[in-house]
Amino acid sequence: MSCIFCRIVAGEIPAEIVARDEGAVAFLDIQPLADGHVVIVPRAHAARVEEMSAADAAALFRTVVRLVGPVRRALGADATTIGVNDGEASGQTIPHVHVHIVPRWQGDGAGTVHTIFPRRTKRTVAETAASIRKALGG
Ligand code: AMP
Ligand code: ZN
Repeated sequence: MSCIFCRIVAGEIPAEIVARDEGAVAFLDIQPLADGHVVIVPRAHAARVEEMSAADAAALFRTVVRLVGPVRRALGADATTIGVNDGEASGQTIPHVHVHIVPRWQGDGAGTVHTIFPRRTKRTVAETAASIRKALGG
């Protein structure tokens, strides 16, 4: 098994695990962006979100919902940023789906999801919506 997150799920390599349930395992990020930075992975390997079954995706997000309050309170944080890098071009470095929960404090100096984008759009919102509806078969 070469996937590092599958190996953590299987207990083959150590991790600071904070929660595990039937669908997902949560552990502390080895290079935390802030204190309390947690990574939650589905037990079933999927490289990208679009490869997940609906059941695995639901189980993963249930675990996110279960953890976010306790993580925030444990760290005395005001908020959290919850994110997924989905695909290599987005910055995903480990091709096993994972959700980051990063605690946030008022005035902590970190940006928002919006600040990672240079906003170089080429299409109108209406054109884009039509393309996506077509891809969805609508
Ligand atoms: P991403 O860039 O979204 O693919 O994030 C992968 C995350 O996994 C990074 O924040 C890494 O610090 C973290 N990471 C990599 N290896 C380990 C590990 N063995 N245990 C815990 N976290 C890890
Ligand atoms: Zn895996």
